[in-house]
This record gives sequence, C-alpha cells and structure tokens, in this order.
Amino acid sequence: MNEKILIGHRVDVLDKGWVELQDLMGDDLAIVNAARVSFLGESKGTERDKKLLFYLLRNRHTTPFEMVEFKFRVRAPLVTWWQWVRHRTFHYQSVNAQSGRYTPFQEDDFYIPDVWRLQAKDNKQASEGTLEGPDGEALTRELVEHYKRGYQLYEKAIQQGIAREMARLFLSGFAVYYTWIVKVDAWNLMHFLHLRMADDAQMEIRVYARAIFEHFFKPALPWTSEAFETYILRGED
Ligand SMILES: Cc1cc2nc3c(=O)[nH]c(=O)nc-3n(C[C@H](O)[C@H](O)[C@H](O)COP(=O)(O)OP(=O)(O)OC[C@H]3O[C@@H](n4cnc5c(N)ncnc54)[C@H](O)[C@@H]3O)c2cc1C
Repeated sequence: MNEKILIGHRVDVLDKGWVELQDLMGDDLAIVNAARVSFLGESKGTERDKKLLFYLLRNRHTTPFEMVEFKFRVRAPLVTWWQWVRHRTFHYQSVNAQSGRYTPFQEDDFYIPDVWRLQAKDNKQASEGTLEGPDGEALTRELVEHYKRGYQLYEKAIQQGIAREMARLFLSGFAVYYTWIVKVDAWNLMHFLHLRMADDAQMEIRVYARAIFEHFFKPALPWTSEAFETYILRGED
C-alpha cells in the first residue's frame, strides 16, 4: 500500500461527482496485530498473517477490522446522500455535510443522467432497460430546462431577500449535488460496500460504492479485499 498515492487521490463519479480519500489509519497488518494482542503477539510473517486475517473475516471476528479507518470527502447528488446516510454506522463515526443555509448553490450543481432507466416490471424498487433514441434526448432537455427554471426562481427569491434556507425550496431536491465528509472503519465500510455494490442497489449509489472499493479499499487493504470478495461477496465458506 502506498499512502502517498492514495491520500488526496480523487476519483470522478457520475457527471459531476467524486470521492476523495482524505485520510487513512491502518493497514492489513494493523488488523492482524489487533487480533494477536489477545496473546500479546504481533506479526508472524506474511503467510501466517494473511491466513489469520482470512480466518478472522471468515468467522466474522469484526473488531480487528474496526482498527482501520477511512475518511472520505464525497460529492454526490442528494438522491445518493439520502441512501448513504441510512447507514447509521457512518453517523456514529462522523458525517459532516455542506449546508445549503451557508453556501449558495451554483447553476450547474445538478445531476444529469447519461441514460433514462425504465421502471422494472416485477420489482417496484428497481429499473431495467433504458429509454433509447430521441425520446431519451428530449427528456434530458426537459430536465435541464426544469433545473434552469428552478434555479432562476431560487436566484430571484435570494434577490428578494429570502433566506437561502427557504429559497432552496425551488431547487430540484433529489438532483442537487452535495459535498460531505465521512469517517468509517473497515468493517462497517465492508457492510456498506456489500449492500451498495449489489445489483439491487440504485445505480447512483452503486457507482460510488464501486469507486471506493476499486480505488481505495483494494489498494489500502489487499488481503482484506481478497477475503471480503471470497467470504462476503461470493459467500464462500
Ligand atoms: C437495496 C436497498 C433498498 C433499501 N430500501 C429502503 C427503503 O425502501 N426504505 C428505507 O427506509 N430504507 C431502505 N434501505 C435502507 C436499509 O433499510 C438500511 O437502513 C441500510 O441499508 C443500512 O443498513 P444497516 O442498518 O445494516 O447498516 P448500518 O446502519 O450501517 O448498521 C450496520 C449494522 O450495525 C448494526 N446496528 C446499527 N445500528 C444499530 C442499532 N441502533 N441497533 C442495533 N443494531 C444496529 C446492525 O447490525 C446493522 O446491520 C434500503 C437499503 C438497500 C441496500
């Protein structure tokens, strides 16, 4: 793991979002050493250390994995934020968010999807297939017009002296981009990744979970990632 490369690294997600690793505490060895404190021991060489880590994850010995912490700065549309903060372990370990009361929104702070997904027929929470061709393009143009109109009304209200906390009622709530900072330990991050990289999670959060896994979690914790893919994602025994 090369902390110099990882920390401060930013990965683009969706049309205007990103995830940036702000800080990282610990590595695979920190997990192994936390487990070995039970008998006041430490590393016993690569092969035995990796074997122990796999044993810990396979048997859901959770607390050694909580010794590693990640701090991310995230920019994502509110539809993603709303689902993200349902993970209470992120709350317990810290979330700080941009305030629409302090910071005025900008005209391009809105999410514009690449494609329009269609409602799934037999799953009320899911989508399947996409709207192709001119109909999709027309819908996107209408969405952009809708954002523009809302933003004009937002600006007009501010010019009339309306407080930012109320003027924002004119903005497209689910689409507006927010920035927040979250801190989470490796165990609870794996729980989040497991749920939010899954096919039944909404695409607008799945891409953030996937970015975190591929660009930060895997390079930071290669053994843990391998064990996570084996025992949790693939469910092997
Ligand atoms: C595909 C999908 C669809 C969803 N749809 C909806 C929906 O329609 N409506 C909706 O409201 N939510 C929905 N959710 C959110 C879901 O109900 C959970 O709130 C969210 O996934 C967080 O999961 P969690 O509680 O396991 O995680 P966390 O809140 O991060 O908690 C992690 C684990 O810690 C433990 N824990 C945390 N807090 C407590 C506590 N206070 N007491 C006891 N144990 C605790 C639990 O074991 C929990 O599994 C959906 C989630 C997904 C992935």
